[in-house]
Amino acid sequence: MAESIDLPSRLAILPFRNKVLLPGAIIRIRCTSPASVKLVEQELWQREEKGLIGILPVRDAAEIKPVAPIMSQGEGTDSLDQRSKVQGGLSDSHKLDVKNQHDVVHWHNRGVAARALHLSRGVEKPSGRVTYIVVLEGLCRFSVQELSKRGTYHTARISSLEMTRTEMEQVEQDPDFIMLSRQFKATAMELISVLEQKQKTGGRTKVLLETVPVHKLADIFVASFEISFEEQLSMLDSVDPKVRLSKATELVDRHLQSIRVAEKITQKVEGQLSKSQKEFLLRQQMRAIKEELGDNDDDEDDLAALERKMQSAEMPQNIWKHAHRELRRLKKMQPQQPGYNSSRAYLELLADLPWQKASKELELDLRAAQEHLDSDHYGLVKVKQRIIEYLAVRKLKPDARGLVLCFVGPPGVGKTSLASSIASALGRKFVRISLGGVKDEADIRGHRRTYIGSMPGRLIDGLKRVAVCNPVMLLDEIDKTGSDVRGDPASALLEVLDPEQNKTFNDHYLNVPFDLSKVIFVATANRAQPIPPPLLDRMEVIELPGYTPEEKLKIAMRHLIPRVLDQHGLSSEFLQIPEGMVQLVIQGYTREAGVRSLERNLAALARAAAVRVAEQELVPLNKGVQELSAPLIENRLAGGAEVEMEVIPMGVNNRHISNTFRITSPLVVDEAMIEKVLGPPKFDGREAADRVANPGVSVGLVWTTFGGEVQFVEATTMAGKGELHLTGQLGDVIKESAQIALTWVRARAAELGLAAAEGINLLEGRDIHIHFPAGAVPKDGPSAGVTLVTALVSLFSQKRVRSDTAMTGEMTLRGLVLPVGGIKDKILAAHRCGIKRVILPERNMKDLVEVPSSVLANLEILLAKRMEDVLEQAFDGGCPWRQHSKL
Ligand code: ADP
Repeated sequence: MAESIDLPSRLAILPFRNKVLLPGAIIRIRCTSPASVKLVEQELWQREEKGLIGILPVRDAAEIKPVAPIMSQGEGTDSLDQRSKVQGGLSDSHKLDVKNQHDVVHWHNRGVAARALHLSRGVEKPSGRVTYIVVLEGLCRFSVQELSKRGTYHTARISSLEMTRTEMEQVEQDPDFIMLSRQFKATAMELISVLEQKQKTGGRTKVLLETVPVHKLADIFVASFEISFEEQLSMLDSVDPKVRLSKATELVDRHLQSIRVAEKITQKVEGQLSKSQKEFLLRQQMRAIKEELGDNDDDEDDLAALERKMQSAEMPQNIWKHAHRELRRLKKMQPQQPGYNSSRAYLELLADLPWQKASKELELDLRAAQEHLDSDHYGLVKVKQRIIEYLAVRKLKPDARGLVLCFVGPPGVGKTSLASSIASALGRKFVRISLGGVKDEADIRGHRRTYIGSMPGRLIDGLKRVAVCNPVMLLDEIDKTGSDVRGDPASALLEVLDPEQNKTFNDHYLNVPFDLSKVIFVATANRAQPIPPPLLDRMEVIELPGYTPEEKLKIAMRHLIPRVLDQHGLSSEFLQIPEGMVQLVIQGYTREAGVRSLERNLAALARAAAVRVAEQELVPLNKGVQELSAPLIENRLAGGAEVEMEVIPMGVNNRHISNTFRITSPLVVDEAMIEKVLGPPKFDGREAADRVANPGVSVGLVWTTFGGEVQFVEATTMAGKGELHLTGQLGDVIKESAQIALTWVRARAAELGLAAAEGINLLEGRDIHIHFPAGAVPKDGPSAGVTLVTALVSLFSQKRVRSDTAMTGEMTLRGLVLPVGGIKDKILAAHRCGIKRVILPERNMKDLVEVPSSVLANLEILLAKRMEDVLEQAFDGGCPWRQHSKL
């Protein structure tokens, strides 16, 4: 910026519409109007030495406000003192038509001389119009003496409004000026720091503040803000440096304030965003303050409670030490710290475990125990006997570590309820731990605490739940544990059941030994065979084979029906299920060894009856009134004579209600109701007859986890290449049995009269397909050998087998019938299914003693030594081909 500028007396004037160029400001404009283009061309572009031009603000007529000195063309207004004359003197003559447009403009009488810092010329296509882009720098103020138009653009006679150096020096001595300039600099400095802080710019502006004279700085600063045209004009008009400084200070200050307000608002918004962070910080501070003050906060209260709980847990000394160490560590931790919660949960477990707490054992009265078992369970004489023996030993030697009882049998035969009966006979608490599907050793022993989400094993968890150290613990479905890569749960169980080791059972999570020796373990399993031998060795297996229909009927009448009625808020006054109907349910709707689905069906009947009662189908209002208790009568009569619904007071139990609504006659379940509720019968005695109506089907007896079952074997033949197809979820053993059966039949084809002559290939041009229906049930085991042969013989001979005869037995390649397992279950299953004759391997005769005599009385048992014996019995009228046989 030049220190002093020699202004010519006349300047070409470039009008700035509603805009002011202040000295020190730099502006980039584009000139497109013919007048301005001409001006730039002549005054700047074509000149060798770039000259100066005058920038004069003009204002639209509509925007004129009588505040600023405005002049009209030809009328020179000059100097400050003349301003008053021009103010308000706006008449039509002062207006000028610019650019031949509609608008009339007014020239300001003060402007700023400017020089071009940069010029560029452009030609618009296709019009060929010339335009200029000019970068102008404002230099100094001037006043217009006279404005005239030369050709296309205006020129003006001007006089400089800048002070001379001596004048300026004088002003600079003026104390007012000094004060004003100090004030301005301070404000400007503040603004710069705020801006620098915000934009992180360097200190260039500060340098400017120190080097440029203050009266010029005022212009430069104001030029950089966005202020109104009026304010720009008044700044331009501030020729006196003092006035200029005070105005600039005011504007800079205003700008500063607006920046501050904006900043405050953003801070507020940001503050809301980080509210949670702030909260966290405050909480931390609060904690620190409380610590300083020695105040207990909630967490500490909690920890104190935990400590009290730990103290009352009666832990053994060494475990208490360990726990206390852990507690000390926990106290030093912050609740937000990782590990705090897991450490706390661990201590809670230690405090919750029943280290010494035991339920007081009753003086064992064997007779009472027997009565208890009898009242809970029908039948099961041998089982109950064995339990009583077990209890007797315990009575004589309370710390005797007898074998673990293991109830083995199909579902629903009362294994679980027997175990809980043992608990109540001993006056101990009962806890059931399900081991079904447990493949991970950690399920028994827990996960080490180093793992995320680690937990204690099921045993420790069970003990925590039951809260005594001497419960009866039922290890349910112990045969369903398996082993895989995650370890062997069975070996962990071995430790649990071993009296030598279970005194110091080590759960990985707990990490301190726990004494399990006071726990009475009882196990259940569907089958004994999958239980690993070492485990089985520790247990005494008590088999519960399943019930005969007669037993089921008794169980239903004595135990299930009263229980089911009670569960549904009914009594025998409401619902009666006659024996005949229970029998119907047993025969038509259940085919199980236990009584679970029978209980379910009875419950369905009770539900249906409950609905009827609830619908008040059975409640004759007028008859019941005299029986009702007083408050109910009041309720009933309060609303008028006829009350459809009433509010039954809380606390009146179901039995009360049933008594209240005494009914004239109970609902008696009949066939129609059974059919309505349970649907048409699922099983009828005709199944076997229907299934064996065609040759090629035989009736076998198999053993599954659900007990014994009747299994049909279907064989058929079709054109093919002599292949054997087998379907129906079969294991390898059964596939081999089928091969053996086919080979045997082929080898005996002639003897059995299946082929005309020896040596004829039975499979010539045909395939055999053997199917074991009920595809969803996996089958394995060799006991289907005789059944397979019978089916094949029936197929080839086209003779039907007897529908009342079922069979089981393994067969050797040479036709010997070998004994098989599960005879009792199989016979019971045959009995359930209405089979009248059962063919068994001769060597299984010894197993018949286990079968209830009531069942045997209804069955004809046929013993077979060789396959031919089986065939002899399986077909109507014996085996007609036997006479041809050489065997
Ligand atoms: P499991 O454990 O063998 O699968 P549950 O013990 O759960 O069978 O018995 C199923 C239901 O049958 C229980 O309600 C049980 O009381 C009842 N139950 C089984 N056998 C008898 C029985 N002999 N006498 C009375 N109720 C029995």
